[in-house]
Amino acid sequence: RKEQLQLLAAVEAITKDGVRMRLAGNISSVKDLELALKHGAEGVGLFRTEFLYMDRSTFPGEDEQFEVYRQVAEKAGAHPVVIRTLDIGGDKQLEYFELQEEENPVLGYRGIRISLDSRELFRTQLAAILRASAYGKMKILYPMISSLEEIRGANAILEEAKQDLTRRGLPYDPEIQVGIMIEIPAAAAIADLLAQEVDFFSIGTNDLVQYVLAVDRMNEKIAHMYHPFHPAVLRLLRQTVQAAKDAGITVSVCGEMAGDEKAVPLWLHLGVTDLSMSPQALLRVKHYVLNSDSRESKEVGAACYRLSTSDQVESELVRYAHELE
Ligand code: PEP
Ligand code: MG
Repeated sequence: RKEQLQLLAAVEAITKDGVRMRLAGNISSVKDLELALKHGAEGVGLFRTEFLYMDRSTFPGEDEQFEVYRQVAEKAGAHPVVIRTLDIGGDKQLEYFELQEEENPVLGYRGIRISLDSRELFRTQLAAILRASAYGKMKILYPMISSLEEIRGANAILEEAKQDLTRRGLPYDPEIQVGIMIEIPAAAAIADLLAQEVDFFSIGTNDLVQYVLAVDRMNEKIAHMYHPFHPAVLRLLRQTVQAAKDAGITVSVCGEMAGDEKAVPLWLHLGVTDLSMSPQALLRVKHYVLNSDSRESKEVGAACYRLSTSDQVESELVRYAHELE
């Protein structure tokens, strides 16, 4: 079965009736990228860069980061690579960066909030990403965005980084695309406004589910309440995708939900064809896509939107997944 799945690596992810999906990899390192490519990933939909900053005693400098990003760009070849800027705080801490203890770290100082405060740190990372954009198709992704001001603040620092590279005579892609994670319910609620100022959305269902249901994703005691198929989550997904489509920008999904093959009918119904997932999930999801008929699958997705509870939605998706086997 594993060998059979591996044969799918070189096959395009197309439904039986010809709907083309693009399955990319979520990675934290060059090694992850190698596995993703082995499993047929069409590029990187999410590079979690915090792992470059962990298990060490000082911040990585511009050159050091550039080397890693350039390697990723080159290995990905013609495929796009979405690099997410540093997303520490919450459950991810750095030994050498003293963050105050917080009552609610997940609602606290993390992601873009830290980057906008530590401009030098942020500019260094952006410079490294920009320099790597001369070697492949890079895109920049800001995490934990909840407002328009944060996008504008981050873009102002990006502009400084660009001007600095120009002064230093270093090449970069001046047209580099900039996108945001949609992972805070506020961002989903104002997705139409945010879509006016970015090139793409990447929906982070891990945090989106946590925040909209007020269920800590790390708390085992309430793990049974962490429901990606909750109707409230489905509504936010629909609203976000609709806003992206209305504004003519691309939207992909990069949370764990994207790596759950059962969810494919939801994506087809919503018109999402770009997914990014852990390298281990790629072949399973592709297998499911290859066995799907998009018209039938869209009906299942639409039916899920008429159901009222997480359990009902999940049962419907499980039923259809069995039917496909
Ligand atoms: C998410 O929140 O869905 C996501 C992809 O980011 P992370 O899991 O790194 O928080
Ligand atoms: Mg997240």
